[in-house]
Amino acid sequence: MRQIAILGATGSIGGSTLDVIAQHPDRFRASVLTAHRNVAALAELCARHQPQLAIIADPALEAELARRLAAAGVRCDVASGMDAIAAAAAGSLCDTVVAAIVGAAGLDSSLAAARAGKRLLLANKESIVMAGPLLLEALRVGGGELIPVDSEHNAIFQCLPGGRPDLAKSGVRRLLLTASGGPFRGRTRAQLSDVTPDQACKHPKWSMGRKISVDSATLMNKGLEVIEAHHLFSAPVEAIEVLVHPQSMVHSLVEYVDGSVLAQLGNPDMRTALAHALAWPERVSSGVAPLDLAAAEPLHFEPPDLATFRCLALAFQALREGGDAPAILNAANEVAVEAFLAGALPFLSIADVVESVLTELPAQAVVDIQTLGERDRAARTAARRVLRNAC
Ligand code: NAD
Ligand code: MG
Repeated sequence: MRQIAILGATGSIGGSTLDVIAQHPDRFRASVLTAHRNVAALAELCARHQPQLAIIADPALEAELARRLAAAGVRCDVASGMDAIAAAAAGSLCDTVVAAIVGAAGLDSSLAAARAGKRLLLANKESIVMAGPLLLEALRVGGGELIPVDSEHNAIFQCLPGGRPDLAKSGVRRLLLTASGGPFRGRTRAQLSDVTPDQACKHPKWSMGRKISVDSATLMNKGLEVIEAHHLFSAPVEAIEVLVHPQSMVHSLVEYVDGSVLAQLGNPDMRTALAHALAWPERVSSGVAPLDLAAAEPLHFEPPDLATFRCLALAFQALREGGDAPAILNAANEVAVEAFLAGALPFLSIADVVESVLTELPAQAVVDIQTLGERDRAARTAARRVLRNAC
């Protein structure tokens, strides 16, 4: 029986994970559930899934969570704060951690799970983008394993021999990451000047949280995923290519030196990747409808438009620069996306903010987590200054 901590249980990935877990009560148990501030949603999930521990990130809401759980007759321990989330990720109540918090807020708990030797199901791509070498080192020292949940990386993991081998020795030539292109595929820059947060969050194929939805619309999501693939599979940047595929059925591909190309296909539903990662190396049903290729629309592929969707080009640039440039890129992007979602920044200016901050803070080597935290804060401060000057 796998004991699973779901960090970010009230989110889109959290909900999909709980759905798969509930289909297999004989194999999986949700033992820890966490949320940011949504006490009502967390209490409801606890009533349904009966975890041993519920944690709300905002300490001011702990009493309210305890009150709601008591009123609903739910018997589970209650805690609060980010330290409690990281402690639970490393603690004895779980052997598996689903890292589904959004943004840099997920880094400490991902690291804690890695250090403690858990099976880490990584959805929180921001933690590997920020701290790739540190997270991989923590996994090595802790003796745990990382199974990618991001659909593209889960697809590549499935198409590689034995999970994550040496790419060159395995005859891998390229990793081809597919991208849906987001809601604004095919638009010109002029057509993007006044798009709204709601338009950006209306993804044609996937239903996701608002931050990743905006990242999908700018193609920064694919940029973060290129960096994620680089770390997860030790792939040189020249061996990673992005391919726009609006049907979102081919989740990514691996090209071998003999000309073979292996792909993983499926309906666009994160429960497939989650079921794969939860049960690996076995397989369990996920509740996702079988893919009906004969009835599907034709599969189309095209190169990304890097001149219009500059965030993807900036992510490649940060990866080439190396060091902590990806962490700087990520921090600036988080600040810019928040401002866009608040109606305080035009869509096209997200890339401008990221570019300014990358220029202002040239890359430094990643030394340790404290220094990385300082650089993350410096990038956020710089991004807020750029925002103030722009408005
Ligand atoms: P979401 O916004 O729907 O959910 C985020 C969860 O994190 C919520 O439970 C929220 O309470 C919690 N959270 C938010 N801020 C927090 C904070 N400061 N401290 C503690 N908890 C906090 O997001 P999502 O779409 O589920 O995405 C989660 C992560 O998974 C992101 O990193 C995203 O890039 C990645 N991901 C998502 C999808 C998808 O289909 N949704 C696919 C691939 C990867
Ligand atoms: Mg993805």
